[in-house]
This record gives sequence, C-alpha cells and structure tokens, in this order.
Amino acid sequence: MTSMTSPPCGYPLPSLLSALVLVLLGACAPSAPEYHRSLYVFGTLVDVDILGLTPEQAAKAVDAVETDFQRMHRDWHAWKPGGELVALNEQIAAGGSLRVSPFLMPLLEQGRALYLESDGLFNPAIGGLVGLWGFHRDEPSGGAPPSATAIEALVQARPGMNDLKIEGDRVASRNPAVQLDLGGFAKGYALNRAVERLRGLGVRDAVVNAGGDLCVTGRHGERPWHIGIRHPQGVGVLASLHVHDGECVMTSGNYERYREYEDVRYAHILDPRTGQPVRHVVSATVIHEDGGRADAAATALTVAGPTHWERIAGRMGLRYVMLVDAEGRVHMTADMAERIRFQGQSPEVVTAAQAE
Ligand code: ADP
Ligand code: MG
Repeated sequence: MTSMTSPPCGYPLPSLLSALVLVLLGACAPSAPEYHRSLYVFGTLVDVDILGLTPEQAAKAVDAVETDFQRMHRDWHAWKPGGELVALNEQIAAGGSLRVSPFLMPLLEQGRALYLESDGLFNPAIGGLVGLWGFHRDEPSGGAPPSATAIEALVQARPGMNDLKIEGDRVASRNPAVQLDLGGFAKGYALNRAVERLRGLGVRDAVVNAGGDLCVTGRHGERPWHIGIRHPQGVGVLASLHVHDGECVMTSGNYERYREYEDVRYAHILDPRTGQPVRHVVSATVIHEDGGRADAAATALTVAGPTHWERIAGRMGLRYVMLVDAEGRVHMTADMAERIRFQGQSPEVVTAAQAE
C-alpha cells in the first residue's frame, strides 16, 4: 500500500503506459490527500485511487472492495472449481437446475438482456466454445486449434442466453449446450460495483482501474478525471478524454489475449455465429454509466467489427463508442468525437452518424 505521489504538473511519461487505458494525473495535483493501492484480482492488477480521505479511512474502504472482488472472482468464475457459476454450469450440463444467489442472479439477467440487445454477438452462453479454444486456463494452450467438427457441433447446438429458464431463484437451461462464461462483462460489472461500494463508505472521488478498464466517481480536484487511451497498434497515447462522475470506460481488443499456432493468432473473443475467433483486428472502447453494459458492448462491437458496429451500437443505445481498425483508422459516434482529444499525429477518422 502506498500513497499516490502526484507530479506537480503535466502527464506521466510514456514509459509508464502499461495499461490500455490509464489514469492521467491532472495538469496540477489537487490539494486533497491521495491514496493508491493495487489489488491482484481477475488475473490482473486493479488500481484504486481515492482522494480526500485519511489513509486509514481509504485503506478500510479498499479492504471492503478487495473482499467483494474475491467473492466475485470465486462465484462468477467460468471454470475454477468451488464457485457458484461453476456449480450452475455443472447442473446445466446434467440437465438439472440450481438455486442461484442474489449475488450471481443480476449478472444472468443482465447478461440475457445484453445478449438480446447485441443480436447475440455478446453471448455469455458460449463457455463451451471458449473452453474448446483453450481459454479456460490461466495461460491459453498452445497447439493446433480445435477440430472444425468439434467447433461446428457446438455452434449447431446454438447455446444462447434465452435458453436460460429463470423461475424465482431457480435457474435451468432448455439447452444443455449452454455453458456460462461471464468473462465478457463481469469485469465492467465488478468495477461498477466497486465504485458503488466506495461511495457507500463515504468516498466521493475515486478511480477503479483494472488494466485499462475503469469506472470513476467524482472528480480529480478541480476538474473531471482525465485518462489516456493507449494506441492499440503502437506505443503511446492515442487519445485522451475526461471521464465524468459515475462513468465507466471499457475497451476490448482481439489482440490482447490469444493463442498462437503456426504464426496464426487466435484471439479470445469469439464470434458466436461461427465459433471462430474474431479475425479482423480491432479495438472497441465504450463509455457508459453502466460498467457491465459498457464491457459487454465493447466485446460485441469487437465481434461486429468496423463494418457492422454502428448497427449494434444503435441497438444497444450507446452514445460513446470508438473503434480502431487494423489500418489504424478510428470509427466513432459523433458524441464520442466531441469528447476525444487525439495526442500527437491525428489518425484518419471515420465519424459515424449518431447512434440512435
Ligand atoms: P477483456 O476481458 O480482455 O477486456 P472482453 O471483455 O472482450 O476482453 O472479454 C473476453 C472474454 O469474454 C473471453 O475471454 C471469453 O471468456 C468471453 N467471450 C469471448 N467471446 C465472447 C462473446 N462473443 N460474447 C461474450 N463473451 C465472450
Ligand atoms: Mg467486454
């Protein structure tokens, strides 16, 4: 645990850019005390920055967040034994049902709604495919990709979130091929919950940042929180923007986690329609007050890609969306274009008509 030391003025050096999105300190540090702690959860470091509390108060608040995160990690995990989601998946595979706690249930309900809104491109029921591709382990497996027959069998079984039967607190599935994997939006949901927890403990100004996906509350001194979005194809900051009280910024990219075989990369984001990893190189950033929605949308828009993202963004009611394609071109909604400030050389920008 360390107190965050702020440079008097200016931005941190590019060598500090380890995350896709990072908090840029304001032009001048605020006078309120600042507290920083890194937690290791969800296989990544989560940085918590809090302003305005004593170190003791801040430490207590972060302890509470850490306890929450540990429970989320256990009960929402898709494949590590011992958690509630794994138990539910076992029941579904066996054609049974499980009474689900109020801790997990909202994710199933929101996951189903987001699945429908994204036209099935965000589909947390494809855990079978994710596992088949070897992403249900800490380090993705090497070796040849799974057989076309095995992939096709799972695609044909059409697992979808609308297969879930939720009656009261009891959950079953009409389709035994459903295997739940909440990895596409649990982090955004969790960061949102973390900020809510901090607020409940008297924190007004804070950022919770998981390797580039973040939610904020309040402000950074006199001005809104200011963050940089790392260039997906290079080093340095592509753009910066202000993040307002209660907002979350989530980015998905099909280059972040992948397996490699004979010089071909297979990304961990799958197209549920084909069972194949998304091939077009793209990163999608979404800003929304609902962290789970932003995270799910970033995954769905990565699947949709530069050609189809507008339709999905419209269906999901997203105002702030930015995609970076393989050529480094930036596609975004008009509202996003108003908020983004490019750093250095401006990329080619394709601004979309406003999403409905
Ligand atoms: P990251 O966690 O790296 O930010 P995402 O939010 O896009 O990336 O989540 C990717 C994870 O979501 C995968 O590891 C897998 O567990 C799951 N997943 C992969 N494809 C899909 C999809 N089409 N819909 C929902 N979840 C998916
Ligand atoms: Mg996501």
